[in-house]
Amino acid sequence: MPDNGSATRPLRVAIIGSGPSGLYAAEALTRHDEVEVSIDVFDRLPAPFGLARYGVAPDHLALRSVRNTLETVLDDPAVRLLANVEVGTDISVEELHRFYDAIVFTYGAATDQRLEIPGEDLDGTISATELVNWYCGHPDAAGERVEAAITAATSAVVIGVGNVAVDVTRVLSKTAPELDHTDMPQHVLDLLAATSITSITVLGRRGPAQAAFTTKELKELGELADADVLVDAHDLALDPVSEADIEGERRRERNMEVLEEWSTRTPARGRRTIRLRFFSQPVEITGPDRVTGVRVERTRLDADGSLHGTGEYTTIDADLVVRSVGYQGMPLAGVPFDEARGVVPHAEGRVVDDGTVVPGEYVAGWIKRGPTGIIGTNKKDATATVRSLLADAAQLPRAAQPDPDAVTTHLSERGVRYVDVDGWHAIDAAEIALGESKGRPRTTLHDREALLESARRGVRD
Ligand code: NAP
Repeated sequence: MPDNGSATRPLRVAIIGSGPSGLYAAEALTRHDEVEVSIDVFDRLPAPFGLARYGVAPDHLALRSVRNTLETVLDDPAVRLLANVEVGTDISVEELHRFYDAIVFTYGAATDQRLEIPGEDLDGTISATELVNWYCGHPDAAGERVEAAITAATSAVVIGVGNVAVDVTRVLSKTAPELDHTDMPQHVLDLLAATSITSITVLGRRGPAQAAFTTKELKELGELADADVLVDAHDLALDPVSEADIEGERRRERNMEVLEEWSTRTPARGRRTIRLRFFSQPVEITGPDRVTGVRVERTRLDADGSLHGTGEYTTIDADLVVRSVGYQGMPLAGVPFDEARGVVPHAEGRVVDDGTVVPGEYVAGWIKRGPTGIIGTNKKDATATVRSLLADAAQLPRAAQPDPDAVTTHLSERGVRYVDVDGWHAIDAAEIALGESKGRPRTTLHDREALLESARRGVRD
């Protein structure tokens, strides 16, 4: 067996991204007794947990509690957090190979898909990613843009019928008491409490049978304190393709049951409305400089399930448009990338460049398979990648500087202020204290400098 040093020292592994995929990969590596490991988890943000902190809706407390499980991984003595370090800027992938025997890329799909229709960049049009980043307190959120779009809005259109579209519709429709127990930053809560949005139209380009949302998430729209859901019964008439799509598909059947019940409801006067419209393809976002509406074309499905415009157009009045048509993975300098699919190409989790496996490089999560699935999907996915890594352990190219101090010295020499797990615990304590001061369980620190200052102060204490 070739000597990769693992007989005399632990295998050094860098994980790029501290979201669920990265931390599940770390967990899978530490739970193995075949190979001793020493893991550094990098994140470009000062606080860990990726989409578990900056993607899962703040009012989904049970889902957000996955952070508690992920935190136990960071407390494992074999795992070290190096947050506030941007791979590609603060340290290159080539440099990482000097310090690590293996690198696992789990940096997710941080940006959003575009519609590529006229008017997409008008004021008052934002992406769900921008809105979610803002209400979750992401340090890079486009706060001014989002706040300018929401503040004066009264009628919104949300484009897309996936779970993110449902999340943003629900958050925009909730009353202040429905959001008060969340960990949203205070300025977000204040702005949402003052919103004048009274109607939201959610657009699906295909039919209800093809909608991507899950039933549990859909049903929550019908349980809001001050919003009624409306569905046009006409949209629920099933064509043969939709009937076939639904048959035996429990999620779709249950979605249809919920939508059918809503189509019989009459909205109460004076309450906000959420209208779900299907077979509606946006073709233009209208307005001279600020959005005034969304022009949609009625669609139909062909016998083979393909989507066609019917030539029937209507314009929905709106002064806020949120496009929620999926996330998009981005390339990282020095790592192979499939532009068409927005993923890092791989074979069983091993990074592949032009059909050849790149030694010592692995990939897991959304940047491996695309932005689909629930948090739990990433556990299975990360574990599969780790299985490949461990199978390769004996053959991995050996790092020139495996001492854990070598990489942190390198970062310090570059002036990179990394946040370790003690720094994170200090941020955590500061957020809990800030929340308690306002009678809430936690308030997210959204400002990068405030996060770094809390991390430093805690470490000094
Ligand atoms: P998604 O599930 O892929 O949904 C994207 C939606 O955008 C689909 O309805 C899609 O319609 C539509 N769309 C795409 N391109 C379009 C276009 N050009 N014009 C009009 N509509 C278009 O993506 P997502 O909502 O961003 O969610 C990402 C993943 O995170 C999903 O797996 C989701 O389940 C998960 N997630 C889960 C939760 C939860 O468990 N609570 C919460 C949030 C997100 P077509 O189907 O016609 O393409």
